[in-house]
Formats: sequence, structure tokens, C-alpha cells
Amino acid sequence: MGLTRREFFKLGGGSIAAIAGAGILGNSLFNNPEAPAYAAPRIEYKHGVCEICEMNCAFLGKIENGRLVKLEGKPKDQHSRGALCAKGNSGINMLYDPDRLKAPLLKTAPGRIPGQDPKWKKISWDEAINRAASEIQKAIEKYGPQSVIWIGHNKGTDFLRAIGSPNNINHQSTCNAVRIMATRITLGVANYVPDFENSKYILCFGWDQLGKAKNSLARGLIEGKIKNNAKVVVFDPRFSTTASKAHEWIPIRPGTDLAVVLAMLNVIISEGRYNADFVAKYVEGFEELAEEVKKYTPEWASKISDVPAGTIRRIAHEFSGGCPAVIPIHKREAIQVRPGGFELARACLAMMAITGNIERRGGALLPRIAPLNYPKPKEKPPELQVTERIDGGHLFPLAVPKPLSGTGLYQSVPDMILRGEPYPVKVAVVYGQSLQSMPETEKWLKAFEKLDYVININIYPDDMATISDLVLPESVYLETPHISPRITNARYYQIAVAEPMVKKLYDTKEVDEIKYLLAKKLGVDKYMPPHGEKVLDYKLKRYGLTYKDALKKGGILNGSQKFTPKDLTSLRTESGKIQIYSPKLKELGYNPLPWFDETWLIEPKADDEFYLVTSRPPMHRHSKTHNMRWLHAIMPEGFIYINAAKAEKLGIKDGDMVELSSKYGKETGKAKLIQGIRPDTICVLHGFGNKSPYIKLAYNNGPNDSRIMPAYPKEVNMTLKDPVGASMDCHVIVKVRKV
Ligand code: SF4
Repeated sequence: MGLTRREFFKLGGGSIAAIAGAGILGNSLFNNPEAPAYAAPRIEYKHGVCEICEMNCAFLGKIENGRLVKLEGKPKDQHSRGALCAKGNSGINMLYDPDRLKAPLLKTAPGRIPGQDPKWKKISWDEAINRAASEIQKAIEKYGPQSVIWIGHNKGTDFLRAIGSPNNINHQSTCNAVRIMATRITLGVANYVPDFENSKYILCFGWDQLGKAKNSLARGLIEGKIKNNAKVVVFDPRFSTTASKAHEWIPIRPGTDLAVVLAMLNVIISEGRYNADFVAKYVEGFEELAEEVKKYTPEWASKISDVPAGTIRRIAHEFSGGCPAVIPIHKREAIQVRPGGFELARACLAMMAITGNIERRGGALLPRIAPLNYPKPKEKPPELQVTERIDGGHLFPLAVPKPLSGTGLYQSVPDMILRGEPYPVKVAVVYGQSLQSMPETEKWLKAFEKLDYVININIYPDDMATISDLVLPESVYLETPHISPRITNARYYQIAVAEPMVKKLYDTKEVDEIKYLLAKKLGVDKYMPPHGEKVLDYKLKRYGLTYKDALKKGGILNGSQKFTPKDLTSLRTESGKIQIYSPKLKELGYNPLPWFDETWLIEPKADDEFYLVTSRPPMHRHSKTHNMRWLHAIMPEGFIYINAAKAEKLGIKDGDMVELSSKYGKETGKAKLIQGIRPDTICVLHGFGNKSPYIKLAYNNGPNDSRIMPAYPKEVNMTLKDPVGASMDCHVIVKVRKV
């Protein structure tokens, strides 16, 4: 037997002296013939891709004696650049989380109250699939396939198509729809990549990817600032993490960034500071834009935004000074979740376009996304009989070009379910979507209450799981193989390949298999594409490689990193060029140019009323990471940022519990007093507010911002003349009082 540290100290001074007196210490203690030979740990490394956020950073997993012990970013990966963020590193916690769902669960208690004991009964997969399929079948027979909806991440389109429902409900209108639609109209692609590293001027409107620790975006900005001496300017009502690293922070009035950008366009055009050659060759609609922005003077914008006219002029001059300059837009930033968010994204694109900063080193690059082969079903599914969607997607043809694609009005869904319009909904499959991401949560709960059956595909027994009739446990990304074509922020073509780090720990399945099993039970599996490991080789076939070849090549396939500008006269836009004036928008009844409507503005009237902005902390990703041990240790609960001087006037101290109330709901949480926020604005951290006691670390972890946010019916969005129908999450005034 070896000697433990405790045994060693138990020997005490006298014993040690006695041993020492025995002469040769080693003889008696360390030459024991019965001691087993030292067994070196069995260590292996495997290739992985993080799926906690859409950066999909590639890593190498270290497995010691069959247990995953460490994840390390790969230096050759353009996203991780050799290091994962705190969330990525903590993926191990999700895999080994003792609170994870381990088998299908059937709710046997009535009601849909988050966190209430569902009296779960563990059942087999056979029984779970039979029950789910039977509820779906019942709804289809009595109310038609459109009565079945899939909520979550566009993951159910193939299944919905197979059963004949158009109701692909996703949350994009509360997230990235604005950026996608604006970029699609202007550049013909869904996003662009800010080339921070080569930029000299980085201008941010509410953009705080440093604060959210989105790896490649955060590192890119810091590299641009430090290695390339780029100037960084941030407009934000709050002194965000990005603002703290910037050269200049401008605490703008919430919801008025658009006025400032239009005024900057006015300055750049009226003073002839645009790139005339670039505009002549590649921009469509410059003359019309010049006419439109004449009325948006810096003085006009200053009154609306609290930004001095001189500052607007100076920044417009700096941006158009000829150096490579960029305005990053990602998603769900302060600017996007307000009326006019779509116009703001278009105005930012227009500003980069007329200064020649599109597809230029240091400006906005078109993404380089490696195409993959996606297998088709054995038989083409029949055409949909009903194409009208309950999220009103059919009313927004810009956002929903085909019935199952695009994004409708996520926030209008509960109203439509409650009203039974345009038809009754009976069954919902909810995938990877939490109650914390549903604005006006109480209204969503009433809508779920009205449904006959709710099926939840989930990793955790969270709030959504507790209100669902049936919970189907999903495997964690570290247990499954997958291929990532680097959709977000791809500066050059690159594919990352992941293998399972360990065998599945519990009786869980991948979502593709769950959908397939459901379709099979419903007799429509011939309409489903093949899934599982057999399609991995097919996805890479166009590159003459198998999945295993890709792993042997280090799990990363790189295209050329040499920058060859793309042709800006053959874009997938209406004219083929950069489209600032859009005839299509005009035809649909919207303004063809970026514009401003003062009716979009709201204002707090009393001392205890505030604008609302939201943010996400760097160590959490929405609500999905709150039960991960290391992340919980860093940030166990969420809070509400309030300006310290303003809080003092209201008698609120740091750490006091405060009540937030809006027209849409109430919530309480802890106040965190800071200097770096406008006195008329509060900021609530998103993703907290879990009520399920079955995820123990995340239980009761602070305020849920969604409870005070509006879920407007579609009529409101239509009055706001918003062609995307994007969320107005932050279009709300909140009252704050100490409780
Ligand atoms: S940024 Fe962090 S959470 Fe997102 S993919 Fe990379 S490591 Fe994972």
C-alpha cells in the first residue's frame, strides 16, 4: 500500500524520528514488494466543436481514463483561435451535470405552472414515441396538420413538411431577423463579417460582443484595436464591456441610434465625403438616398438622441476619412429590438457602402461559408395544403419568402393561439427554447395552457420541461458527431469536424433521430431526409473526403486565406449591386430607403420610469448554461443595473430587491448600482429567472426580463411599418420601486 498524505502526517514527529532512527528510510516505506505498479492514466485527444453558441469554436478534448477532463481551443480554428471562452470550457459541466435529463419523462400532474412538481414518470423511448405520435395524429385527424407547431431553432422544418404543417415557429424576430433581412436586401446574403483585424475605425451602435464573450468577434475587435491601432467608438446607453475597451463612449438615448446614423449619412453626402468611384461602380440608389437624408441634419438628430451635433459631425468625418472602417452588427443588440431596427441596420450598411467599406480589407466582408451536401428524403413530400402560419409569417413576405422558411412574428404566437386564429393549435413540439426567451411570459403560459399536448425536447429539466406533458431527453453535443461549416463570421472557407468525446452517458437521443422516429410512427418517414452517422460522409462528398479523412486531417479543413474580393456587381440583390434603394420594399408597401419615424420614440415621464435595455453576461448563454457548475460559481444570479445617483434619489441601495413593472408584467430582482448607465435607463441581464427546482444550481437565480417585455400581436407590428415584424422587446417603459 502507498502512503497517503493524511497517513504521513498521522505518523507525527516521534514516529518520523523512529523511522529515521531505523536507518534507511526508503527501505521500509517505499520498497514494499506488495505495492502495485503505477498505472499511467490512459489519455486520448478527440476533435470537437462547441455548440454552446453559434460561433462553433473548434477544440481538442482531453479524455483521461474514459472521462472528458479538458477542452482546448484549436489555434488553426478561425473562431477559437486557440482558446475557448468560459462557457466553452465549461461544456464538461453540461456533459457530467447530475441534473441532466436521463430518460423520457411523462408528466402525470395537471396544470402548467413552471417549477411545480410534474410528478414525472420515467418511461421507455418506445412508449414516449408512441404517445407523442398518437397525440400528433389525433390533432391532425381532427384539426388538420397545421394544428401541430414546432417551436425552436428551425430544427423542425423537415418534420413539419413531412406531416404537412407550415408552422415553423422560431424566435428570430426577437433575435437576428433584423440583421438578416437588412443584409439580405442590401448585400444579398444573411450576414457580413466585420474585418476588425485590418480595420482602422470601428464604430459600434449597441454592439457588445465583448460583453457577451463571442469568441471570434471579441478577439477580432481587440486585435484590431491593439495590433492595428484602430479607433473604437461605442454608442450605448450603458458603459458596456465593449465601451470600456473603446476610445470613446457616447451614452446615447435608447432607441435613437438610427437618427444619428441618418445624420451621419447627411454629413458624408452633403459634404461630398463619400467614395464616388465605389458608389458609381457598386451602389444602387445613391441619388435617392442623398435626397432622403437631406432632412436628417445633425441638429435634428441631436435633439432626439442627446448626442451633440458636433460629435455626430466629427464621427461622420472620422468614419469617412478614407481609412478602412466598419460598423459591426450581430444580433439582438440594444439597437435591434426597437421599432426602426431594420432601418438602422440598413442605414449602417448604407454608410459602409457609400464610404467604400464593403468587401474591403478592414471593412465589412461577405462571408465565406463552405457549402455542404444535405441529403434529400426518399420521396418529395406533398405540397402544403395550408400555408398561412400562426406567427403571421405570411403577412411578412420579406421575412418569410416560402411557407416553411424565414421568421414570422414570434411574439405574436401566444395571442394567435389564445384567439384560435387563423385556426386552432393543439400540439406544440418545443425544442431548445426556454420560457426565459418568451416575451410576456405570462401570456405564453396561458397559451400553453390552452394546448392539448406539449412535447419538449430538452437537455435539462428546466421550466419548459416542467410545464410539458412529455419530455424527451436530448444528447449533449459532446456525445455526438457533427460537421460545422462555420456559418457565423467565416472570414475564409473552413469546415470543423467533431467526434463524440465519450459514449452517451444516458438514455438520450439526437433531435434528428427523435424527429425521424416520430415520422416513422406517423407513417411519413419516406418524406424525412436520412440522419445520423451515415450522412456525415455524404456532407463532405463534394470535397472528395470522408468524415474519417477529415478527422485524420486534424478535424479542420481550411480553404485559402488569401483575400480575393468578391464581385460586387453580381450580388444576389435586385440590381446585382449593393442595394440601398429597394423597389421590392416599395412594392410591398414599405419605405424603399432607410428612414425615421418620430412616432417610434417613447419616453419615460416620471422619476421612477426608465427605458429598458437588456444584455447577456459573458459567462452565460441565454438560459442554457446556468446549471453549469463553473459558470454558476462565477455568476450565480442575475441582477438589474441602475444608475447609482438616480437610485439614491429613489432610496434604492446596492443589493436591494426592486420591483420592475411594465404594461406587460412584473418581476423582482436585485439592484446593482453603477455609474456607467444613463440615469433614465435600466439594464436587465437576460436568461435568468428559472423556477424549476430540478436544476438545482440555477433554481431561483434572479429576474426574468421576458416577464416585463411585450408580446405584441401582429397588428401592432403592422402599424409600426416594420417589414420584418422584428420584436419590440425593449420598446417599453418600466417603473422601478424598492420592495
Ligand atoms: S464563443 Fe464560447 S460558447 Fe461560443 S462556441 Fe466559442 S467557446 Fe463555445
